Amino acid sequence: MRLSELLNNAPDTTSAQVENFLGYRKIAWGKRKPISVGRVVRNHYCLSCGDTRSFVSGEALSCLISAESVLSIDVALRCSGCESGTEAWFLVGCGDDLYSQAPEVNLQRFTENRRDVAANQGLRVEQIDDLFERAQIAFDDSLGAGAMVYLRKIFEAVTSQAADAVGLSTRRSNGKRRDFRSLLAEVDATSHIIPSEFSEDGYTLFSELSEVIHGDSDELRALEKYDPCRRLILGIVNNVRNREELAEAITSLGWPSKVGQPTEGRAS
Ligand SMILES: [Zn+2]
Repeated sequence: MRLSELLNNAPDTTSAQVENFLGYRKIAWGKRKPISVGRVVRNHYCLSCGDTRSFVSGEALSCLISAESVLSIDVALRCSGCESGTEAWFLVGCGDDLYSQAPEVNLQRFTENRRDVAANQGLRVEQIDDLFERAQIAFDDSLGAGAMVYLRKIFEAVTSQAADAVGLSTRRSNGKRRDFRSLLAEVDATSHIIPSEFSEDGYTLFSELSEVIHGDSDELRALEKYDPCRRLILGIVNNVRNREELAEAITSLGWPSKVGQPTEGRAS
């Protein structure tokens, strides 16, 4: 695969082998190099178009060698509909040799500046991405419990946004917040936000995060659990995003929509 595919999957940090893009001669620290790795494409809700659009980079990108096997890539992106601009920044690390035929690379940090983009439909993307970024910063600084707090906040935010989307109340009649277990059960029965691979274990994941946060687990254990927990949370977020995209596609085809509607159990 080409490096752009890895960048397009941000904030996913899974490592992957990519085609050589720096050449075979080592580049000195602090030097920039033009690279051709395919276009970067990020999908967002564009405020001026009033719809979801692809924000696309140019063909030529530039990277900065910032450490032995780390490089920084700044990308300017434009809406494919109206040319509104955003920026993205990626820090890419390499597990083996950056100058090999197929270096193994992964995303270490990622930030997006969506000046003209409002994610005010469906999942509030900026909020979720911001929480993922905070979780990663806490993890990078070896703050295990702190990282888990942000993962749990993402889980709570996705669940309450999914509840809002189908008109389920997140509060009790006395105005207090509903307990998470019953809210999650109701939201998942209605909108299937938990991927089928662990559909029975949504609350187990929440308990896992809570246990670490409430001090029943030491920092080292929290750091060990961070990556698998993060992958499961990312799985839920991607699942909700996919379902939203499917619902949009179904609506635009004029089919009667079943996504997000109450159903009798799930066939999977
Ligand atoms: Zn636009």
